[in-house]
Amino acid sequence: MKSSIQKLRRKAAKSQGGQSFYCQQPMWETDPKIFSERFRVPARAVFLFQCTAEHLVARCDGGRDTKENIVAACLYCNKIATGRSGQKMPYPKETCPITDEAGSVAP
Ligand SMILES: [Zn+2]
Repeated sequence: MKSSIQKLRRKAAKSQGGQSFYCQQPMWETDPKIFSERFRVPARAVFLFQCTAEHLVARCDGGRDTKENIVAACLYCNKIATGRSGQKMPYPKETCPITDEAGSVAP
């Protein structure tokens, strides 16, 4: 169901004004080069601003691919940052058998 999660992510990104749900940084979806030039982000750091789909309730915890549960977050917030506001992570995402299999970062 990759296509539906992409749709949800795009919708979420649009309603968030193209900004990351957590850090409110702008994100890019298809062209890191344009983004890097526009926001003067060094090429080596630009991958962190990629727009990704984030589950508010992780799939491991029964979260579904619905518009209520999907937000758009930059790769940094989705993958690297931990201990976000009010969210408890019972285990690192990397160890989740479901997201491991499907890839925790949706394209
Ligand atoms: Zn972010």
